[in-house]
Amino acid sequence: MGWAIALHGGGGDIPRSLPPERIEPCLATLHRCLDLAVAALQAGRTALDVVELVVRELENCPHFNAGKGSVLTSDGTVEMEASIMDGNTMSCGAVSGLSTVVNAISLARLVMEKTPHIYLAFHGAEAFARDQGVETRDPSHFITEENIERLRQTKEANRVQIDYTQPIKVQPPTDDNSRTGTVGCVAIDSSGNLAAATSTGGIVNKTAGRIGDTPIIGAGTYANPLCAVSATGKGDSIIQYTVTRDVAALMEHRGLQLKEAAARVVAGVPLGHVGLVAVSASGEVSMAYNTPGMFRACATEDGYSEVGIWPEADADANGES
Ligand code: ASP
Repeated sequence: MGWAIALHGGGGDIPRSLPPERIEPCLATLHRCLDLAVAALQAGRTALDVVELVVRELENCPHFNAGKGSVLTSDGTVEMEASIMDGNTMSCGAVSGLSTVVNAISLARLVMEKTPHIYLAFHGAEAFARDQGVETRDPSHFITEENIERLRQTKEANRVQIDYTQPIKVQPPTDDNSRTGTVGCVAIDSSGNLAAATSTGGIVNKTAGRIGDTPIIGAGTYANPLCAVSATGKGDSIIQYTVTRDVAALMEHRGLQLKEAAARVVAGVPLGHVGLVAVSASGEVSMAYNTPGMFRACATEDGYSEVGIWPEADADANGES
């Protein structure tokens, strides 16, 4: 057993027709994050530090639906949310309703470490961010032209939209296919500590105040001494099926290995609704999804690495699994 890392940049109906100019920046970011994570793990950083580091990097990339690049609410505003969990101590922290915080994941970690609470939202979370002196920007900083257009199209179709859903029919095919994705990361370090982190802007045209799975411990994020899991997809289903906790529960109560537990949980959620990345205490990795695709990457100490979007045949894998 050694260290292992897996990350995602969102799962959904990612069309294979997505133009290369939209795919390449996402893949380049996944590769860069993987390199960063591997270097940090090799340097002896803890799993908790590494998942925070990777998710910050993904939040700072406008091609993903977290931090700058977050999708918009029906009011045209950004409401970011995130959570983080340390597997060995089972400490966790979560935030919702952020409109000015550059790295929601770091604020979630501060909630975990500096407050007696687990979850802060909206006004209270923003006030806590000011108290802690974390980096903030004007709300307009987080709003991209692509997301203004995406909201316009979604409103025209009178629906809420998960990240990668195909563009509506009334629109000519545009690069609106370039859905950005929720981000997450899980890791086990060489001392055997596990951690999970997830961050998002939610779903396009969500009602202001809507909270998804991402900040909910046991739904979008979970870690214990057996495994660490981060989910993506239709948040409401992920909450209903307690996706990340269920993976851990199958290992804990049924004695399943990680891959089998993750596959079983994903198979039990309606088709097209979920994807996850997970690592176990024995260094196993799972990147299971029932959506058409999921931006994902992983690496293990024994030299295996993989970066992909669609099912296995398209994944760019190296080494032994
Ligand atoms: N799960 C997120 C949400 O519903 C969306 C996503 O994963 O893309 O807020």
